[in-house]
Parts: sequence; C-alpha cells; structure tokens
Amino acid sequence: MKPGRTPARWRPARAGDRVTVVNLLHSHARSRAAGSALLGQTGVILRRVRDGVLVELDECPRALGGVWRWYLHLEDLIVECVEEIPWRPRRHGVGIGANRIRHVIALPLSGSPGTISACGEPASPVVAAGWVPPFSADLTDACPECVRLLAAEP
Ligand SMILES: [Zn+2]
Repeated sequence: MKPGRTPARWRPARAGDRVTVVNLLHSHARSRAAGSALLGQTGVILRRVRDGVLVELDECPRALGGVWRWYLHLEDLIVECVEEIPWRPRRHGVGIGANRIRHVIALPLSGSPGTISACGEPASPVVAAGWVPPFSADLTDACPECVRLLAAEP
C-alpha cells in the first residue's frame, strides 16, 4: 500500500478512492460479461452511481477492448480510502504523452487543448475525479527527462 492510503474503515467509498476488482457477482451484466479480464484490476472511483461506482482502470488489458471505465458494484470491490489531501496550490500535475509516458505539466491548466510538458513533449492532462494528480518520479512510465527537470527545480 502506498503512503497516504489507509484501508477502508468507516467512511463510504467516494470519488478518488482506489479499488481492486475482486468479484463480479453484483455488478452490471456488461461488466460481468468481461469476466476474468476485470478480476484483479485496480483503478480509481470517478463517481458514485445508484448501486455502485464508475471506475477508471489503471491498466486496460487487450481483452477489455479499450474500455477503461466500468460500472461496478461496491460489493465486488476492495476499496482503499484515499485520505483527503490538504489544499495547497500545486504547480505541477501529470500528463500522458505518446506511449502512455507520464510527463510533468504546468498547473493550473491553460485551457488550451494541446499541453506541452516540461520536457517539451505534448501531453494530455490526467484528470481523475475533477483534479489533476501530482506528478511523482514513482509513477509507472514516468518520463526520465521530466523527473530530472522537476528534481532540478529550486
Ligand atoms: Zn517528459
């Protein structure tokens, strides 16, 4: 478990919490039909829905046909409550570029569609539950040049 995360204890699941798919007994028929390709997948809750949650997966196996977002029943999930991060202005967030490489992008977003990351590659902001997560050198596929540039900042 990564720092800043605690196991689900008392509060209801909400947007931003991390989930692992452990069952497909209660979810929508369309999700159940994806079967074993969904089991064991991890992701983040985008929002609550009437009887479950909309989840965006961290990875999308070929068997899921390019579908990253799934409606899943809470009873089919292990939920890791993500602690609220105290508000402070952030200057950097995560953008996704070619080959799903994670780059540093400047915040707040300018609103223009094409964002240029710190290393000069084009990247699209990662928006999860209405915010752009902070860039970290520990991210999967973090751009080495962006990591170097961020570390060199005062
Ligand atoms: Zn980069």
